[in-house]
Amino acid sequence: MAVGGYDQLLKVQDLDVQLRQLRHRFDHHPLRADAATLTAEQAEAEARRDEIDGRRHEVDRELKRLADEVASVEEKRAKTEAKLYDGSVTATKELLALQDESRSLLDRQRRIEDDELELMERQEEVGSEAAEVAAELAAITGRAEAVGAALAEATAGIEAEIGEVSRSRAEVAASISPEVLARYEAIAPEFDGVPLARFVGGRCDGCHMQLSAMAVDRLNHIGPDEIASCEECGRLLIL
Ligand SMILES: [Zn+2]
Repeated sequence: MAVGGYDQLLKVQDLDVQLRQLRHRFDHHPLRADAATLTAEQAEAEARRDEIDGRRHEVDRELKRLADEVASVEEKRAKTEAKLYDGSVTATKELLALQDESRSLLDRQRRIEDDELELMERQEEVGSEAAEVAAELAAITGRAEAVGAALAEATAGIEAEIGEVSRSRAEVAASISPEVLARYEAIAPEFDGVPLARFVGGRCDGCHMQLSAMAVDRLNHIGPDEIASCEECGRLLIL
């Protein structure tokens, strides 16, 4: 193969090395770790918020139940009192029984109202816990958004570079025979993306092996369309 072709192939190899470095920078940008930490913190705060919301709903439900109970006791007491004073009952014993019932209903109502007060205090506590976690979550979300924006900006620059280098690579690759390019691409992974070696002083500078006299002779007489490669390691040789 003509020397010019190898020059182009070397350029492709250089550009491929650049592309790998850029992709690595893109994938391992330091802000990605920050973003991941914030995502984890966000999930943790959301779980806490859900747990608090659960307790909050429980307290609300219980308060509603107690309010209903108070209403029903009040209604019962109103009926008892009406009976007591509407003149429909005249027997002393019955009147005393009604008085007793009214009093015990009032006692019951007060006990329930005490429970309500206690629950209202708990409702307030759970409410402030909810407000606290909401503020924390808002702060984390704000930081996550800032990191996300910074990461997008930083990686957009890398993406633009990747685009540029890819275009150059395509241009250079277009001037290389498809057969040589295919061979280069096929063996590149084996050599960590650097499958080209120079042939200097009878040695391959990829594997540093001295090539046999026969191999050297063959390389010295290689035709313009043949692909030169190291008989020891298989790298493509730049003559
Ligand atoms: Zn070699």
